[in-house]
Parts: sequence; C-alpha cells; structure tokens
Amino acid sequence: MGLFHAEHENVLRTFYGQERSEYGRILESLAAFLETQVAAGSAGFDADGGGIREVRTKLFGQGLCRIPFDSHGGMSLPFGIYALAMELVGAADAPTAMSMAIHNTVADGVHRFGTPSQKESVLPDLISGRRLAAFALTEPSSGSDARSMRTTAVGLGTDYVINGSKTFITNAGEADVYLVFARSEKGYSAFLVDRSVPGMTVGDEIPKLGMRGSRTAEVRFEDCRVPAESMLGDDGEAFEHAKAMLNGSRIIMGSICVGIARTAYGKALAYSVQRELFKQRLADLQITREKVADMRTEITSGRLLCLYASRLRELGLDYSSEAAQAKILSTEMAVRVCDRVIQIFGGHGYTDAEVHRHWRDARLLTIGEGASEVLRMLIAGMEVAGSG
Ligand SMILES: Cc1cc2nc3c(=O)[nH]c(=O)nc-3n(C[C@H](O)[C@H](O)[C@H](O)COP(=O)(O)OP(=O)(O)OC[C@H]3O[C@@H](n4cnc5c(N)ncnc54)[C@H](O)[C@@H]3O)c2cc1C
Repeated sequence: MGLFHAEHENVLRTFYGQERSEYGRILESLAAFLETQVAAGSAGFDADGGGIREVRTKLFGQGLCRIPFDSHGGMSLPFGIYALAMELVGAADAPTAMSMAIHNTVADGVHRFGTPSQKESVLPDLISGRRLAAFALTEPSSGSDARSMRTTAVGLGTDYVINGSKTFITNAGEADVYLVFARSEKGYSAFLVDRSVPGMTVGDEIPKLGMRGSRTAEVRFEDCRVPAESMLGDDGEAFEHAKAMLNGSRIIMGSICVGIARTAYGKALAYSVQRELFKQRLADLQITREKVADMRTEITSGRLLCLYASRLRELGLDYSSEAAQAKILSTEMAVRVCDRVIQIFGGHGYTDAEVHRHWRDARLLTIGEGASEVLRMLIAGMEVAGSG
C-alpha cells in the first residue's frame, strides 16, 4: 500500500468536501515523492545517526513548509492538509518530519508575532526553506518547568545580551536562525538569533535512542549581543507566544506519530501473512487478528483527533485542549502500536532495526513538545476550571 491511500481520500471527503480533489492531488504527489526520495533512505539515517539534510532540502523544494502559510510565499492551504502532509512525511521518515515540524513552528511564530520588518527579512527564507530554524526553550535544568529557565537577556542600550545554555535543541548546528527564550526585565522574551552572531556556540551532537537522523545538541550563549529588533513579539510575553506556537506543533507531532504507526503496522501486517507457524499463517491466529484490529482502530482514531483539532484551528476556535488530546492520544498510540509490531515480529522484531526503529522514533514524542503528564495537567485544568 502506498503512503497516500483510500483512508486519506475518505478523510478528505469527510473533512474537506468540495476541495478534496485538489488537496488529494497535492498529497498524492507528495506521497509519491516521499516514497521514492525519502523512505528509501530512512534505514540509513537511523543507522548512521544523521544525514537527513539532503532529504530536507528536497522536501523544502517540494514546498512542504509553504502549505499552512497565507503570505510570504505560503500556499494558504488548511492546517489539516499540513497535518496530513506531515503524517505522510512521518510515515516516510520520522526524524525528517520532526526536524521540519520544529522549523515550521518557528516560522509560525514569526508569522504570528513578527514585526513587518522581521516578516520581510525572515519569513520568505523560512517558508521556502532557504534557511533552517531551531526552537531553543529547554535548558539542562528546566524542561517541563520552563519558567524556571536560567538564560537571561539583559537590555544594554539598543541591544540585548544573552547568557545561558539550551539543551536537546533539534536542528542545532544545522540551523541558520534560533528562536531563543530568555528571562528579561519584563518576564520572558524570545529572540531570533542568527547563527553568525558572536557568543553563540553549538555543542557536540547528543546521541539518542531514536529519531537519529535529526540533529540534537546544546546551544550556549556567552555575552551574546543581539539587536533589540531581534525580539520576537512583545517583551515579557514569550510564554504566551510559545503556547500559541506549541498548540499547532502538538497536532503535528500527533500526525507524525500517526504516520510512524501506520508504517510500522503495515510492516507487521505484511509479515503476519507470510510468516507460518503451527501450520498456519501468523495472521490467521485469532490473537494476531485482535492485535491487527486494535492497531488499525487506534491509528484511525489518532488521525481523526489530529484533524478535528486542526479543523478547530482553521475555524478560529479555541483548540488548545484538543491539540493536547491529539498529541497524547496519537503519540501514546504510536508507542503501543510499534510495541505490538515488535511482538508480532518476535525475536526478529527485537533484533531488526527496520522493525524496532519505529518504536524508538515514536518514544520521543510522548516526551518532547509537552510531555504527556504536562498535557494531561493542561487538559484537566481546563476541564476543572470550566466546571467550577
Ligand atoms: C531528541 C529531543 C529533541 C528535543 N528537541 C527540542 C527542541 O528542539 N527545542 C526545545 O526547546 N526542547 C527540545 N527537547 C526537549 C523536550 O521538550 C524536553 O525533554 C521535554 O520538555 C521534557 O523536559 P525534561 O526532559 O527536562 O524533563 P522534565 O521536565 O524534567 O520531566 C521529567 C519527567 O517528569 C514529568 N513531569 C513533568 N511535569 C510533571 C508534573 N507536573 N507532574 C508529574 N510529572 C511531571 C515529565 O513528563 C517527565 O516524565 C527535545 C528533547 C529531546 C530528547
């Protein structure tokens, strides 16, 4: 089965009615590109722990990051189409999808909160992929509890001086522009920092369980002086801005996981019909069928919740709870599905990276961009506040 299949046609039919054929053509052509140009290299990226740069450049060339933007070279397509496109990229190669998703989170931030001059100077290059972005919030001593960050930005004349360090930063070392969060006099502020600015250094690559094709490293700031105009959004409001950016990003992390799960499931299904044991196919054992049915059902539910949250965003409604729900459901679903896939392959699943890399890739996404625990607190907080 190809990356774009009948289920996608059906969700386009149910969610997007009249425009479905146009969107279908775009997604089908992206899927064909991904099958020939990206999926084939995926095993190699996992084995070598890198190498997605070339693939990412090709995908930028295909206009992947233009999809959700309505200016500066964007395609003005619905966010749900972007979510489906990222599901397809996740199905072809998860690290590539994650790297591009984080890049687009920064582009989304500039699009929403940038000054006209920031938009003119930064957005066209980000949307087209001529320049790559990184999102630098996490620090060695603060992840979920981001408000306890130690990085500071002190105003000095017309500049700000940044000191501190960020860790686990995706695209670090490859990115041209870094969105850096720091404590400022008014609270928390964010800055667009160019890679060439003196005082910013990138550490060695951090080895990882999965998502090995994407680069992860520490970024340090030592008396790093940036002009005041590089502040993104309002001084002191960086957390509000980050929340807005991360809402969309959470849907996309969910969609990437739907793609990961779908690919792993496809491998297990194919294996189960050709593996023979006890004089029958593995797929004919009742207990295998139960696994198949559960996996299939959970993948569909993940995709639908991601699209529902996307649709709320498209309609301008509050979707923060649904984005968190979509991320929890889809990322935890992908970990469960990929675990069952290993089980179906038995010892071959435990020893073959082509099987277990999907579990390793999915595992990150219950942690990054709002860990499941944090998102559960967010959802429950809204529920309880709304019922009091
Ligand atoms: C490969 C990779 C790529 C990443 N890319 C980026 C990036 O590009 N940019 C960036 O800024 N960050 C990035 N991160 C960081 C990621 O967002 C953090 O790891 C995540 O936010 C969790 O923070 P932490 O690791 O410090 O864990 P902690 O915040 O210390 O959490 C530890 C545990 O406590 C749980 N927990 C947290 N709060 C509560 C609570 N209230 N109640 C109960 N349990 C709780 C967490 O869920 C977790 O299980 C990346 C991380 C990795 C591993």
